Amino acid sequence: MKFIVVTGGVLSGLGKGIVTSSIGKLLESRGYGVMPVKFDGYLNIDAGTMNPYRHGEVFVLDDGTECDMDLGNYERFLDITAVRANNPTGGKIFEKVLSKERRGEYLGVDVQFIPHVTGEIKEWVRGVGQDAKADIVIIEVGGTVGDIENSYFIEAMRELHQEEGDENVVFCHVTLVPKLKVVGEQKTKPTQQSIKHLLSMGVQPDFILCRCEEPLEDGPRKKISLFCNVDEENVISDHDCDTIYEVPFIMEESDFGEKLLKRIGLKVKPPSMLDWRAMVDNIKSPDKEVTIAITGKYTALKDSYVSIMEALTHAGAHHRAKINLKWVETTAIEEGKTTAKKALGGVDGIIVPGGFGSRGTEGKIECVKYCRENNIPYLGLCYGFQMAVIEYARNVCGIKKANSTEADPKTPDPIITILPESSGDLGGTMRLGAYDAILKKGSRVAELYGKEKVSERHRHRYEVNPDYIEQLEEKGLVFSGRSPDGRFMEFLELPGHKFFVGTQAHPEFKTHLEEPAPLFYGFVGACL
Ligand code: GLN
Repeated sequence: MKFIVVTGGVLSGLGKGIVTSSIGKLLESRGYGVMPVKFDGYLNIDAGTMNPYRHGEVFVLDDGTECDMDLGNYERFLDITAVRANNPTGGKIFEKVLSKERRGEYLGVDVQFIPHVTGEIKEWVRGVGQDAKADIVIIEVGGTVGDIENSYFIEAMRELHQEEGDENVVFCHVTLVPKLKVVGEQKTKPTQQSIKHLLSMGVQPDFILCRCEEPLEDGPRKKISLFCNVDEENVISDHDCDTIYEVPFIMEESDFGEKLLKRIGLKVKPPSMLDWRAMVDNIKSPDKEVTIAITGKYTALKDSYVSIMEALTHAGAHHRAKINLKWVETTAIEEGKTTAKKALGGVDGIIVPGGFGSRGTEGKIECVKYCRENNIPYLGLCYGFQMAVIEYARNVCGIKKANSTEADPKTPDPIITILPESSGDLGGTMRLGAYDAILKKGSRVAELYGKEKVSERHRHRYEVNPDYIEQLEEKGLVFSGRSPDGRFMEFLELPGHKFFVGTQAHPEFKTHLEEPAPLFYGFVGACL
């Protein structure tokens, strides 16, 4: 097994996750089995409890793990299904060490960072590779070199290199080469200093990936090579491009895939990325466009909706359409500062995404009504599915006070509520991870998926209340997908409408550039 370790220097937000995913793509497209691992230094056990304003979207895996959104990039770039082990956090590592200590597994010795914590980390990354039978494990070290939070992790990678041998462990360092406007030249000092930091930790990088606006020039490349002990040809330009999906091609301009394989002694083969290339070309030169509104609470922070945006990008690429997004803050509608008609005028379709709490829900329901009544494509995701059920109950079935017990715990008509069997107890843990649904023959949803049994990921507490289903269906709402036991409503649609579809799941968590999520593909098609 080979290991590629990706660290980052100078500042956060350089796109290390995209670099890691792209390295994976370069190797996978040459027939190698790759498995990425992301280490996060925070002490949370997982990302479920973190603030989406600060950390971006909480991504959900098949196994129900709530994790960092980089895992979403890995899955979107690569042909893998990630599991909990792909995202060790400081919290998970220490939890293991501390519970071993309590069980007496270290009796008689001091429990120390080295060897106990670092040992746990090495065992973890080897285990991930072995379980996946991977040829190459790619380990992304979250944070920046110099942080206290990831220092013991980098130490573990140094030890891994020592134990596995130089031909089996490669270090790639992602750094920033800014161009100062006043002097007009690419500056290498930040890179030099972050490499010095890495060297002081005992790690000599093999490749330096330079994030820069324009391709890296020869002068700075020579300088970085000289100061950092890295051959000139291994100083790779990772310059800005139009779409993240182009990054593997930017790296190929420096023959990075080939150089990596040679470095770890694996057979060099040509990549096969024709479909990927075609979709990147479609993103770069679309021949039509649509405007799609997304409503929600975190509209101030677009990172909260990364997966939805990528799902739209993928669907758009397949239709060769550019997607313009319009963000709609639904509290403004509910406070009467604007109306759904004004806020949504001119858009081709509307998505109401997932959300929690009561804020903005009345505004969302107004948006659903506007779509339903005006035959405008609507896609409701999780909370958006629940809002569609409430809107239909109120305005078509005449159940005026219909609501979710999340928004109004005292509603006389709890159309959306916590079912005892969904959570085990009324304390309400979430339904998390992949669940099957059986789709109704001949429905729009079944047609889009092209099959009748599907699996999508979930992250919610509330469900459609079975007591109201008959009434809703009598008035024309179709629940076109249900859990295999028929108890949980998973998909809905309105026949005769251009596109009115909702799902209790999050199909945006399973979308690929080469294979867009079916509901998004259908929705964008309807918008066009
Ligand atoms: N708040 C809703 C629930 O818990 C929807 C959650 C979501 O949209 N992810 O059921």
